[in-house]
Amino acid sequence: MSSSPLTTGQRALLQADLEQRYRQLGRRLNEHRGGQSRVEYARATRTQDEDDAPQREGEREVDLALSDLEMHEYTQVGEALQRVGGGQYGLCVECGRDIPFDRLRAEPWASRCVGCAAAREQAAARQR
Ligand SMILES: [Zn+2]
Repeated sequence: MSSSPLTTGQRALLQADLEQRYRQLGRRLNEHRGGQSRVEYARATRTQDEDDAPQREGEREVDLALSDLEMHEYTQVGEALQRVGGGQYGLCVECGRDIPFDRLRAEPWASRCVGCAAAREQAAARQR
């Protein structure tokens, strides 16, 4: 499978995607921080009255997990935008090959080609 460099139009499309995502996530994370800090939040969950419905506990965990995921995505999107600025966007950070447009469409913040991403996941799995 060969891949070609992004066209100007494709790059602009992905960049607009990233910028929109970055603003959205930034707003959401600010809303999260606007309430309790994360440490206080976790403590409040732990010291919660035992009588409290288990379902509410579950909702809190989902909320925290979502926030972690968003935080992770926010970081990745931020890094991708830096690569856009540095002219490195769309190139695999490991092997330097062009990342296919289809992959970037699905995951505009992807920093590795499919092969390198898979190799990295396998290496991480072995360390566990
Ligand atoms: Zn690669």
